[in-house]
Amino acid sequence: MSDPSARITWDAAGQPVSADFDDVYFSRADGLAETRHVFLHHNHLARRWRDLPAEKNGSFTIAETGFGTGLNFLAAWMLWQQAAPPSWQLHFISVEKFPLADVDLSRALHLWPSLQPLAEQLLAAYPPAPTRGFHRRHFGPVTLTLIIDDAAAGLAELLAADHRAVEQPAAPVDAWLLDGFAPAKNPQMWSPALFDLIGRLSAPGTTAATFTAAGVVKRGLQDAGFDIEKVAGFGRKRDMLRARFRARALPIPEQPAAAGKAPPGMAWPVVHSRDRVAAAARSALVIGGGLAGCHSARALARRGWQVTLLEQYPHLAGGASGNPQGVLYAKLSHTRETFSEFNLSALLYAQAFYQPLWQNHGDLGRQCGVLQLAYSETVEHQHRALAHRFGEYRRFLRRLPAEAASTLAGTLLNCPGLYFPAAGWLKPAAVCRQLAAHPKITVLTDCRVESLQRSGEHWVALDRGGHEKARAAVAVIASAHHGRQFDQTRYLPLRAIRGQVSYLPATAGTETLATVLCGKGYIAPAAGGQHCLGATFDLREATADLRPADHRRNLDNFAAVAPALHAAGMAREPHTLAGRVGFRCATPDYLPVVGPVPRLADFLDLYAPLRRNARADIAAPGRYWPGLYVNLGHGSRGLCYTPISAELLAGLITAQPAPLPRPVRQALHPARFIIRDLIRNKI
Ligand code: SAM
Repeated sequence: MSDPSARITWDAAGQPVSADFDDVYFSRADGLAETRHVFLHHNHLARRWRDLPAEKNGSFTIAETGFGTGLNFLAAWMLWQQAAPPSWQLHFISVEKFPLADVDLSRALHLWPSLQPLAEQLLAAYPPAPTRGFHRRHFGPVTLTLIIDDAAAGLAELLAADHRAVEQPAAPVDAWLLDGFAPAKNPQMWSPALFDLIGRLSAPGTTAATFTAAGVVKRGLQDAGFDIEKVAGFGRKRDMLRARFRARALPIPEQPAAAGKAPPGMAWPVVHSRDRVAAAARSALVIGGGLAGCHSARALARRGWQVTLLEQYPHLAGGASGNPQGVLYAKLSHTRETFSEFNLSALLYAQAFYQPLWQNHGDLGRQCGVLQLAYSETVEHQHRALAHRFGEYRRFLRRLPAEAASTLAGTLLNCPGLYFPAAGWLKPAAVCRQLAAHPKITVLTDCRVESLQRSGEHWVALDRGGHEKARAAVAVIASAHHGRQFDQTRYLPLRAIRGQVSYLPATAGTETLATVLCGKGYIAPAAGGQHCLGATFDLREATADLRPADHRRNLDNFAAVAPALHAAGMAREPHTLAGRVGFRCATPDYLPVVGPVPRLADFLDLYAPLRRNARADIAAPGRYWPGLYVNLGHGSRGLCYTPISAELLAGLITAQPAPLPRPVRQALHPARFIIRDLIRNKI
């Protein structure tokens, strides 16, 4: 079953009305003027944005309850363009329980001709599957994080994760737009839990504005730590509220690392994002010029950071990211366990991220769709379950019978498939070059980093001879399985998995292939006269020789499901084929490792009670190497996993809002292995 969505009716003036709540989405008099009066003016946004120091390139965060038609978002975005310095970024977070279908969104947004250029960008980027969870989109300096969830539940996912794994403080909100249907019509949303979260996510100076002056909202804001003021509402509305955060009634410790003890279960306090990273310190060195490193560098550069990217090979993507064709695919499930939720978020984000690359750089790959083949009963069963969960989102996936799948693929297929129209293939090395081509990124190739040393406030990257190659306030290790070569990261359980791909010369019989096929292996449509197909998966093998037997395995993956393709391909003897061997970097749980690097000795000490009691309450967070981060373990899903992982990492480094919900962030956290091993008494 898909997640709930909005049921809309249209009034005589063509304005949207909620059929479930019997309430309007915005003022019937003039929705845009109402937005500007209530939310923008009474949060003093124009003035605050004009006052931002142009030389500082920081970020400002708005959070909204009820995204609805996106009118508030578009109006804020337009004002940002007019008022904010170009070097700053706007994070706009909005929580929406009942997302509009894209046809309704489009109809509603056509009401505002002055917003059309922005509305069109929003419509093009609107999630093809607005499922529960975080959906992040970038519009130049404006980043939208649309959280599909109940307001309180969704905002709770923004909090820093608890002591078990993550201590990073959440990024505070600078201004709240408290929309949502009127409290009388929607009492469930305006709950004590919602106000509590609004308080937890605020910092001194945070403001809030809302169209209503209902008692429950007044009291809720006051209890959350806001001073409130009743002011004239818009149009026929007599009153509305604006508010300024003072402090919470509950004392919360200043800094998690220094605080020692925080009450169990309590969120870590927020630190004001704008002040957290001093402008002078905004420099990073990134070790590894594959997809993880290049995406990390780009995500930091977009935030105004100066980045040095160090790659051991003579060119970017010399390691596992060097295959000529990579496929964008994920491992989804009909259930909501963390692994599949991460895969879903990663795929949706990656599709949107690569969209402009596909559109504007035809030589980077093709958005030709990916067809996952139901090559066994078990897989077919999984596909049915996925179609049941996502089937309504036809822009995201569709289940096709064998005949329709064959027509679409341009080759005979013997089984049904699950078609992802917005996915495709990319040349990972070209993607890496594109990402690294940014004025704030300096690429150093032929530069193998052997060790990392702390020197004052900096990390220094040293080569084998102990010579300094780069220094920066922050170091990101993104060098796949080499990532554990450093003293600080030696304990990370990273494994290298050998994978051989085969290059199959295109023939008349294979050139018809029009979409990527994924089954036991994958094959992409021809590019430059050949198909890339693969890949083998062999643990505990360290040699990089090309093996004819592995080519045969790659070809045989398609023998039963795509017989015509197989026959055409098998005309070539495997030993005549070219190919490439790479080593993927995987973790025991097959999730990447993204975040700050724990100091092992400190963690073992602090979390020692877990050896005796797996549920022991550890009140203080563990300690981390200052400014040291990893982005590793993307296995064979680098194209899919690295964009969102880099975005997560950049958010952690710069204290900007997270692109993933809290349980997923915990599941990716580098400390998880230490904690698991302590609980199992393996360390
Ligand atoms: N800000 C919107 C805009 O610019 O178009 C209008 C918001 S409309 C008045 C209220 C929105 O709140 C609706 O989209 C509705 O689905 C959403 N909503 C209602 N209850 C909610 C809840 N419990 N959690 C999150 N969103 C909710």
